[in-house]
Amino acid sequence: MAHIFCIANQKGGVGKTTTTVNLSAGLAKVGQRVLMVDLDPQGNATMGAGIDKRQLGRSVYNVLLGDATVAEARVHTGKLSESGCAFDVLGANRELSGAEVELVPLARREMRLRAALATVEADYDFVLIDCPPSLSLLTLNGLCSAHGVIVPMQCEYFALEGLADLVHTIRQVHANLNRDLQLIGLLRVMFDPRITLQQQVSEQIKQRFGDKVFNTVIPRNVRLAEAPSYGLPGVVFDPAAKGSLAFVAFAEEMVARAQSKPTAAPSATPMPTA
Ligand code: ADP
Ligand code: MG
Repeated sequence: MAHIFCIANQKGGVGKTTTTVNLSAGLAKVGQRVLMVDLDPQGNATMGAGIDKRQLGRSVYNVLLGDATVAEARVHTGKLSESGCAFDVLGANRELSGAEVELVPLARREMRLRAALATVEADYDFVLIDCPPSLSLLTLNGLCSAHGVIVPMQCEYFALEGLADLVHTIRQVHANLNRDLQLIGLLRVMFDPRITLQQQVSEQIKQRFGDKVFNTVIPRNVRLAEAPSYGLPGVVFDPAAKGSLAFVAFAEEMVARAQSKPTAAPSATPMPTA
């Protein structure tokens, strides 16, 4: 069965989409079968994976409203095949912003994505869900579908403040809606080791969250920021760039963790207190 992870942080611009796209490509590169789900109406993950969001026939919107199955709506990143980094995408575009309202009257509105993904889970080793920067009904659908949450964060002074809200939400979802949900880990991104404050915050995060902090650190690297304008994940656009190498190392770390902790096993300590 697939390991289903949300990439979430209610702050915008912290690297969620960059992480989702590059981890998807990195996991594909190390031989994993990947489905990337874009749950953000901005559709940046869709575009970053080389799929034109304006050309989508069906999208995650149709899946959430029950007009299409995942098998009907997913597309393959054909142009990444040459690099060995291809994966499937359940894309999003502006239409998805309407779902927030249209889902409200529907039964089990927070479980729509979970039910849809169950039909394709056997096709994948990993399903990665890019969440919007809010704790909305869309994000809730992501959290209810997932076994765990990966939280990208910058090592900045206020980083830990926002984290408390997210950990609280994860706990609530774990208690009331999805007993499988765990905080998988915090990923330090856009890291610049020359900045003393970033080193200090990085240390604080490690002291506070222990083994919930991934070993891999993603450096600030302009090649990762340039890649989306070419419709490619950084990992494919410039495989030798520091940021790309870090994302492949992160993919390897994820695979190693997944092998040591089978998805089905419930965790005794789902998450630390923030
Ligand atoms: P979010 O999805 O959380 O809003 P993004 O992944 O879109 O965040 O990243 C925000 C901005 O930061 C984008 O312009 C992206 O290209 C840039 N960015 C993300 N990660 C890095 C990195 N490691 N190095 C340099 N720029 C980055
Ligand atoms: Mg984003």
